[in-house]
Amino acid sequence: MLGVDRMLAAIALDFASTATSTGIESADEHVLQAMRSVPRDRFVPPNLRSMAWDNRALGIRCGQTISQPFIVALTSQLCAVTPGMRVLEIGTGSGYQAAVLAALGAEVWSIELEAELASEATTRLASLGYRVSVRCGDGALGWPDEAPFARIVGTAAAETVPDAWFEQLAPRGRLVTPLGPAWGEQWLVCFDKAEDGQVTRRDILPVRFVPLRH
Ligand code: SAH
Repeated sequence: MLGVDRMLAAIALDFASTATSTGIESADEHVLQAMRSVPRDRFVPPNLRSMAWDNRALGIRCGQTISQPFIVALTSQLCAVTPGMRVLEIGTGSGYQAAVLAALGAEVWSIELEAELASEATTRLASLGYRVSVRCGDGALGWPDEAPFARIVGTAAAETVPDAWFEQLAPRGRLVTPLGPAWGEQWLVCFDKAEDGQVTRRDILPVRFVPLRH
């Protein structure tokens, strides 16, 4: 079986086994297509390439991680991206989640705290042809110059949602992010902002992400 098919099969199993918690039975066709199209082996360190298609998080530089493929698929599905949608990601890391969102047709802005990771991801995403703008900085502040965003995706766990994220989320927008203490109990959480600005919260699944640092 090809690596990518093995990965997609593992993702399908995870969707099925978490359905009671997430409320999602299976992956959307668009999400699967995007996951199939993004070469994950180009986003992992060269010495881990043989594990690139395993359904697991892997270590990258600066003590950070490339997220587990199932979690990337779930996050992407929760985003329900439509072509041209403006999406802000916090925590570029390898650039993998940003690439999947771009493959779904989103226009992506992504912020990374570590200069080395930001610069590597910029080069990688450009060479693969993804439409992603990467900036080095503190993602807790969002990207005010490009706001509002229809979707905001956190890929590092904050204790509480930074005010800037809610402020920069468009009406009828959605924020998907891990929330919880560093290395403690975290949940992937979905916030929907109504037309009148009112926000509702839905806890999706227990997860483990690296912490959002300041
Ligand atoms: N989205 C990535 C996963 C990255 S892990 C992927 O698909 O591979 C989370 C990333 O968030 C790390 O690279 C970490 O350096 C970054 N990070 C942590 N705190 C941050 C902050 N305040 N602002 C921006 N990035 C941050």
